[in-house]
Amino acid sequence: MASLFNMPITSLSGIGSKRAELFAKLGVKSVGDLICFYPRTYEDWSSVEKIENLQYGGIYCIKGILAKPIVDSRIKGGKLLSKTTVYDETGSLQIVFFNNRYISSMLSCGTEYFFYGRITIGDYGAQMIAPTFSPASAGLRITPVYKQTSGLVSKTIANCVKQALRLLPKNINDTFPEQVRKSFDLCDLCCALINIHFPENIEMLETARKRLVSEELVVLNLGMRNLREHTRGVCGIKIMQDYSKEFESLLPFTLTNAQKRAVSDCCRDMVTKTSPMNRLIQGDVGSGKTAVAASVCYSVIKNGYQAAFMAPTEILARQHYSTFSKLFENSDIKTALLTGSLKESEKKKIRQSLADGEIDLVIGTHALITDNTEFFNLGIAVTDEQHRFGVAQRAKLLGKGQNPHLLVMSATPIPRTLGLIVFGDLDISVIDELPPSRKPIKTVLMNTSQRARIYNFIRSEISAGRQAYIVCPLVEEGELDNVAAAEEYAAELMLKQFSDIPVGIVHGHMKADEKEAVMSKFVANEYSLLVATTVIEVGVDVPNASVIVIENAERFGLSQLHQLRGRVGRGKFQSYCILVSDNSSAITRQRLEVMCLTNDGFKIADEDLKMRGPGDFFGERQHGLPQLSIADFADTKSLELSQKIADYIMFTYKDIRSDELRPLKAEIVKLFEQGGHNTLN
Ligand code: ADP
Ligand code: MG
Repeated sequence: MASLFNMPITSLSGIGSKRAELFAKLGVKSVGDLICFYPRTYEDWSSVEKIENLQYGGIYCIKGILAKPIVDSRIKGGKLLSKTTVYDETGSLQIVFFNNRYISSMLSCGTEYFFYGRITIGDYGAQMIAPTFSPASAGLRITPVYKQTSGLVSKTIANCVKQALRLLPKNINDTFPEQVRKSFDLCDLCCALINIHFPENIEMLETARKRLVSEELVVLNLGMRNLREHTRGVCGIKIMQDYSKEFESLLPFTLTNAQKRAVSDCCRDMVTKTSPMNRLIQGDVGSGKTAVAASVCYSVIKNGYQAAFMAPTEILARQHYSTFSKLFENSDIKTALLTGSLKESEKKKIRQSLADGEIDLVIGTHALITDNTEFFNLGIAVTDEQHRFGVAQRAKLLGKGQNPHLLVMSATPIPRTLGLIVFGDLDISVIDELPPSRKPIKTVLMNTSQRARIYNFIRSEISAGRQAYIVCPLVEEGELDNVAAAEEYAAELMLKQFSDIPVGIVHGHMKADEKEAVMSKFVANEYSLLVATTVIEVGVDVPNASVIVIENAERFGLSQLHQLRGRVGRGKFQSYCILVSDNSSAITRQRLEVMCLTNDGFKIADEDLKMRGPGDFFGERQHGLPQLSIADFADTKSLELSQKIADYIMFTYKDIRSDELRPLKAEIVKLFEQGGHNTLN
């Protein structure tokens, strides 16, 4: 099997070096690649419609006899137009092709064919334009449609796949042992591969898909589990004592029980295990993750090691720096900030003291993982807002020490089914409790005609001493027009609505120190109102802020709105989130209503996953997971099934290295090699 899969694609007849190059463009190099090059979609040629029943705009398969020879003509631009008519027992239909010189040699008068295509209105009634076709003698079926590239059309690919499938031996090594297939009603691999390309019928297509999707997710699932258990080896850091009680006396508040649990999970990992800690702290916005991380860092530092705390943005890094500096003011812990915007000379100085071990705790951005940053004895790496970092960046930070502990924090409430895979290599502590005296944020949906009311409300909150955010109408960061829009919008507010109120503005195109200057003025309540783009999304903490207005709310994903909303309601004041949208589509309203109904990030994440897919949780390919070829992270049902199958496999066979699982193990190795991990030896 393996040898067939690795055979170069040129070993198939009809594929020379030219065609192989085209296949390579599609990522297909070996026969195995080709067999796993699943159709993009299918044309259902299994049910034929009578010509009299065709409706404009519909896509149909008809069975008709060619009534007359093809007539070619030239239309403007020199394009070749070929027309003919076909008929069945209920009527006739015009068929039109463009720019296909060979069509008259491919279709012959008096022969019966299937035609598959869309019905449009032509000069003389209904017509089917550029249909695909095959002789009626070939029989009815569902045909695969492949992603094509110029010079290589779907039909050619289908023929090559057919050839490759014929080479499959009857008894291929199945990735799933028979017992697993029986228990979960999965067809065998050979049947799945044949039917995913050339399904006998719709049911067989579904059977094949279920089998292949499950396989891909199980491979990923078990691969991630393996990563957790085996990648990191023995920990080079000796944490002898848990100092979390001592740390609590430095805090201006008492930790919630959920926070205490998270801290003790971490300390238990570090004190009792021989492998390094790999833990995710997952807690909704405002649940107090920072204090947990601070406590864990404190213990590590008191045991004689350094701690590094990485945040995704300058603003956040600076804010954490000021929080930690205050917290450790009366201790002997030396804290430093290392971000890209510091002067070269400052960075150099800090890097030197890090290498010398003079600094105990460094907080920073990506500047922490550059090659010239060295540590004296890094004991723990913490990453805040984990979804902003890829697995590779996390690994790079860890590489700065001798197998140090890892703590990652995420406010992105990833649905449980997805989390099991995405964070499959991490142990998880959930902070499922908010600090006391928090009042649930009240969220309302309004439209732009109600702006006067909104501004009045902001004004009343500000006169009561509170502060407010307005998130600008902005689509994506990076678009200069948006910056202009943000500035214009802010200018308008400052001049007209709030000329008597200090307004700050912050957006992604400002230099770090400019942003920082504005933010710190807002933190210090020198600005009552902050007009911002989504740069405030992540983590910023101003407990005195009680209103956030989000313009063009329909442009954001629900999880992102939830993050934005989390900028308020962080203190003891009743807080409000006003979503502004003029979009009246039912789906949009329904989506935004979810925000008004619940403050529960997990519920929102589930809704988001249902409606938008997983992109929102990770951004583009930030998760560092291997690319999926057939499964879909948004498919909760399959995720759940694959989790069950994976559990069953581990329960039944105990070790992924057991003999029955050899083909499965090979697949795991293959998938993870693409991601640069190779751990299963
Ligand atoms: P997040 O989990 O979103 O990162 P933070 O760690 O920024 O949340 O905490 C949000 C706010 O709650 C901060 O102002 C922090 O000081 C405060 N806070 C955290 N834990 C507690 C607690 N146990 N009691 C009261 N306030 C707390
Ligand atoms: Mg935070």
